[in-house]
Amino acid sequence: MKKGYFGDFGGCFVPELLMPPLLEVEEAMQKIMPTAQFRAELDDLLHSYAGRETPLTLCPNLSQKLGFTLRLKREDLLHTGAHKINNTLGQALLAKYMGKSALVAETGAGQHGVATAAAAARLGLQCTIFMGADDVTRQASNVCRMRLLGAKVHPVHSGTRTLKDAINEALRFWIRSQESTHYCFGTAAGPHPFPTLVREFQSVLGQETRKQMLAATGRLPDAVVAAVGGGSNAIGMFAPFIHDPEVRLVGVEAAGTGEAGCYNSAPLNLGTDGVLHGNFTKLLQTADGQIEPSHSVSAGLDYPGVGPEHAYLHATGRAEYGMANDAQALNAFQVLCHTEGILPALESSHALAYVLEHPQAFPAGGEVVVNLSGRGDKDMDIVRHALSLEDL
Ligand SMILES: *Cc1c(COP(=O)(O)O)cnc(C)c1O
Repeated sequence: MKKGYFGDFGGCFVPELLMPPLLEVEEAMQKIMPTAQFRAELDDLLHSYAGRETPLTLCPNLSQKLGFTLRLKREDLLHTGAHKINNTLGQALLAKYMGKSALVAETGAGQHGVATAAAAARLGLQCTIFMGADDVTRQASNVCRMRLLGAKVHPVHSGTRTLKDAINEALRFWIRSQESTHYCFGTAAGPHPFPTLVREFQSVLGQETRKQMLAATGRLPDAVVAAVGGGSNAIGMFAPFIHDPEVRLVGVEAAGTGEAGCYNSAPLNLGTDGVLHGNFTKLLQTADGQIEPSHSVSAGLDYPGVGPEHAYLHATGRAEYGMANDAQALNAFQVLCHTEGILPALESSHALAYVLEHPQAFPAGGEVVVNLSGRGDKDMDIVRHALSLEDL
């Protein structure tokens, strides 16, 4: 395959001024990441700071209802509440080895911003976060967390004042500050080498799942299921199983309200080919190429593009991509709370919803793993409002 491409997808469509820092990251990936010293230092951070390895939890009550064994990979138990810390610790440590003194990052709902700020504080790096002005208002508590962790948060007033504009602004900042600063990109998208870099740091969750399944059952799962926003938790789960054809790889996109023609966050199912944020992929756009607004009840899935490796796995058929809508995700959220005593993030609830809505798609008596990418505490206001549980 051509360097930086996954079939036809991927690449590096950026202004010339961004090529030197991207090449520097690519070189660091090749020279620093494989060294024993880097691996050992990252493994220690993941273990003693972030809380790896995370459990693979059997769900006895749901399994009985579904007719197959359901297990959850518990990324919700990690420090800062989601899988994002796997990536930010990896990139922050890489930045240190590269001799950088600062990180810049974009954030939408604020989860990646919080995970970046925490990693930067821990490793003694300065931290600048760009966030759409509307998101700064909507996600005030995450803005507070980032500032407490020592980050400078810049509201972005251009465009739709959301994630896509924050990414554009962070890339511009990186052009000016590339001597001192690494861009800690938040998902397995963006220009090469970010889709590969982020996949490598998130693959730990699939590697652990593989080992834990073999230890618990002596076999691999029939299917692994993960929610797809930009695609980092899903590709981290899929990558270690890609060469095991007996393991189905199931990604779940957010269908929004689910009404015909509604705004959604499902570019693989409902989008078309195009370039966004430096890579050729599937995205939500009008016939004349204007990016369309996305929507999901879960802020972390609310992105009009998707990582190029997912576009490739979709095109080749190696992975399947279903959808779950807002109401189905809210239902799955409640089901998991009631039956297993776990409050999932609304993002992860989409992955679970797909399994609950399509039990016949999985083999009776089989083994299914859902990646519980994060915890739901951050979503309490949305859930309370959506379910009209005003007296909760
Ligand atoms: C950000 C986020 C996602 C979506 O991002 P991916 O890059 O697609 O993984 C999913 N789940 C949680 C809990 C998140 O915070």
